[in-house]
Amino acid sequence: MVAPKYRSGSKKRVFRRTPGGRTVVHYKHGKPSKNHCGRCGKPLQGTPSANPLEIRKMRHSERVPTRPYAGVLCSDCTESLMRYVTRFEAKFGYPEFSDLEIERDLTIEKFLPRDWFSGINKGVAKKAKNAAEIQ
Ligand SMILES: [Zn+2]
Repeated sequence: MVAPKYRSGSKKRVFRRTPGGRTVVHYKHGKPSKNHCGRCGKPLQGTPSANPLEIRKMRHSERVPTRPYAGVLCSDCTESLMRYVTRFEAKFGYPEFSDLEIERDLTIEKFLPRDWFSGINKGVAKKAKNAAEIQ
């Protein structure tokens, strides 16, 4: 009888022939579940679902796509995050967009850095200072 931890169906069995001619069973780890988007839960594209050892053997370009929030958010959620930030930058950075209506979305703000809004306000202050210097 094999050890209880190998009696699970989630372990893959591999039959190997030993040099002595016996056939033995090797147990492999089960494949982990796919990576999911942190906001909507959709399975992520371009990220492999493999054991950490196998992922470490892969090239860096095989592990994760080269875009912001890759491996964390899906492409749709990344786009809505970018648009969300841009909307704030437009409202507080340009006077012609000051009447833009914005609904706060905490599911997006969760993934932004802690001081993202103060960065926008600093940009506004800098622009106001530049405008004052020009005049
Ligand atoms: Zn998503």
